[in-house]
Amino acid sequence: MDRCSFCGREKKDTNLLIAGISGHICDRCIDQAYTIVQEEIGKKGEFDLNQLKLLKPAEIKAFLDLYVIGQDEAKKYLSVAVYNHYKRLMQTTSKDDAEVEIEKSNIILVGETGTGKTLLARTIAKMLHVPFTIVDATVLTEAGYVGEDIESILTRLLQVADYNVEAAEKGIVFIDEIDKIARKGDNPSITRDVSGEGVQQGLLKLLEGSVVNVPPQGGRKHPDQKMIPVNTKNILFICGGAFDGITRKIGQRLNTQVVGYTASKSKEQIDRDNLLQYIAPQDLKAFGLIPEIIGRLPILTYLSPLDRTALRRILTEPRNAIIKQYEKLFNMDGISLSWDEKALDYIVDKAIEFKLGARGLRSICEVIIIDAMFELPSKNEKTVSVGLGYAKEKLEKANLQRLKMTG
Ligand code: ADP
Repeated sequence: MDRCSFCGREKKDTNLLIAGISGHICDRCIDQAYTIVQEEIGKKGEFDLNQLKLLKPAEIKAFLDLYVIGQDEAKKYLSVAVYNHYKRLMQTTSKDDAEVEIEKSNIILVGETGTGKTLLARTIAKMLHVPFTIVDATVLTEAGYVGEDIESILTRLLQVADYNVEAAEKGIVFIDEIDKIARKGDNPSITRDVSGEGVQQGLLKLLEGSVVNVPPQGGRKHPDQKMIPVNTKNILFICGGAFDGITRKIGQRLNTQVVGYTASKSKEQIDRDNLLQYIAPQDLKAFGLIPEIIGRLPILTYLSPLDRTALRRILTEPRNAIIKQYEKLFNMDGISLSWDEKALDYIVDKAIEFKLGARGLRSICEVIIIDAMFELPSKNEKTVSVGLGYAKEKLEKANLQRLKMTG
């Protein structure tokens, strides 16, 4: 009588029994074995750098294009930086190479809030399958003050890497709001500046690559915890900040620069509407970042403000576009949702009018669609279309003031 060689079940007790050279396996055991295989692969594979396929910069950019609209300049810089970063990780240090050591190229992205800085960093991490974490520079303080120690940045990275130190050491950290730790004013102050220069000094250590003792649980609540040494040499740091008012400093610099014999020519060429594109390291210094930090963030690039066309594209084009998400949600109830072009234009108009940027698109859509989302699942209607009239009616009924405040 045929039996499963793994669980011993007889053929009649199985749905399927497959014969091998000298044994049998039943459908249940196949299922179980498959789960075990998947788990094992998952454990090893999630952050396995050996599996990393080194994409060419153009391929990296093409991937970013799927999720992020516009921002071509930033995408180009990021793609090249990431490409070089991973080339550097993979370089085998043969004797010939010994003299040429490729230096780490941490990145700093400057651009108004809501223009896609975090989205870019997140998308890069998604593509690379490396541990990725976002930290907010505003919570960091110098050791000994209230707030989080600089090392807590690495605690987060360790946590997402499931305490796989080797994986964490090749991860990516996005430090948001880096501009908030700028020294206030260009002159070093004699009074202690809790959230400014001290934090920058602390950050230096991480950025430049050194072994840092990281508290595995973070914080200071567990004084007895055993520290984990993490080498930051191969961790890619991407910093982002809005640097409010930096365009003034760029403008001032450009104005003084053009006082020379080339003045007339370059003055004509300056595009005053988007001064960020001329950003240079000295502007960051004028804003209050210390030169050492600037030196450790050699790749400096910018994100442009999102115009009407960009916002309109963000609504529908990216792989995770908001409109696609709503369509999917309704689809799961068997309801087909459609949006009128005019309604979409109207949503964009309102986001611009309230100065809500890309983040506002979502809150506006939410206000418009909430009633339908509430009512339709219990009704028999199988189609819903959002026209201009409908969108206007819903939005006007809502408390617009609230929308303005939360944006
Ligand atoms: P930032 O980090 O610059 O403040 P985010 O990257 O967090 O901004 O953007 C906020 C949200 O706005 C994102 O989650 C995304 O939905 C949308 N968004 C912003 N910029 C873009 C863009 N260029 N392309 C697509 N979506 C964008």
